[in-house]
Amino acid sequence: MITKESVFETLKNVVDPELGMDIVTLGMVREIAIVDENVRVVIALTSDKCPLGERIKGDAERLLKGLAGVRGVTIDLSVMTEDERNRLLQILKEKKQPSQLPEKLPKKSIKRLIAILSGKGGVGKSSVTAMLAVGLAEKGFKVGILDADITGPSIPKIFGVIEAPFVLEGKIIPPQSKKGIKIMSMNLLIPEEDAPVIWRGPLVSSAIKQFYMDVDWGELDYLLIDLPPGTSDAQLTVLQMIPVDGIIVVTSPQELAGMIVGKAVQMSKMLAVPILGVVENMSYVKCPNCNYDINLFGTSNGLTLAQKINTKFLGSLPIDPLLSKACDEGKIEGYDIKYFKPVVELLIK
Ligand code: ADP
Repeated sequence: MITKESVFETLKNVVDPELGMDIVTLGMVREIAIVDENVRVVIALTSDKCPLGERIKGDAERLLKGLAGVRGVTIDLSVMTEDERNRLLQILKEKKQPSQLPEKLPKKSIKRLIAILSGKGGVGKSSVTAMLAVGLAEKGFKVGILDADITGPSIPKIFGVIEAPFVLEGKIIPPQSKKGIKIMSMNLLIPEEDAPVIWRGPLVSSAIKQFYMDVDWGELDYLLIDLPPGTSDAQLTVLQMIPVDGIIVVTSPQELAGMIVGKAVQMSKMLAVPILGVVENMSYVKCPNCNYDINLFGTSNGLTLAQKINTKFLGSLPIDPLLSKACDEGKIEGYDIKYFKPVVELLIK
């Protein structure tokens, strides 16, 4: 059943492109009414000349129509009262105060820290992280992966690493893959690979902090951080703590395009960390007979998305059964990353 809460949650994905924040946080959602599965929302704009009003309305309409149990959607645009506008100004002012962010942990002996982000699970974020690590290692870089997806860790499985880390002189020594990639993950600490980790926010962030601070990463050229899927507080906490140099966004064509990108931009602005590029995964299928690219989900929109947010389009990757087989069998290092090599090249350029 559709509730006001689910409508609010959905509207959190509508970003005011000019202000770079979602319309719920900005206090622009003035009213929600639900009658017989019909949703009516009143959105208050900052001014009646707001050029982005129609776009905000369109985004809200499209997302709400996608909610299960919704029959009809009406979005009425209105203009903020003076009180509403003052509250919005206050919110924007608070957002600009960097002192509210927790202090960043030190950089350690790591040249570049890159976080890999996706809007939802299953788009191939971990596979992309793993291929990136392999690509960089093959180029001679020293690489580590911090699997920050504490409740759904999959990096060790992809690499076939089962060795538990050990403690030496108070430091955690991470196991290494065949190509020498250092890996730290919750999966290496739990007795059974499939045991669920049911932890809440603060525990998760302290585990990640430990994975970063207490692990002896040694000297690294790249530490890749496989973030948990999504763009809420969990990801923000990691990005606030760890001194990342940049974010890579992984999307798939099925993902509601603007959503993850809008949120990633918002995060990047809040944290003053650049988005290094967008990778579109599972973009097409190569016909095994004639090598023709079949766009299962229509034409790729990765390039448009990247351009929209002024970042590099690092490339689109096909759905490749050999990749999922390699990941399932823990043999990513034996997989030919030919489709992925251009991504590595573009990133290190
Ligand atoms: P996420 O980290 O976003 O949850 P994963 O990297 O774990 O996603 O990928 C989800 C599943 O999809 C895995 O089984 C993985 O092997 C498979 N997969 C990811 N990318 C591809 C691809 N390009 N082609 C085929 N299978 C893929």
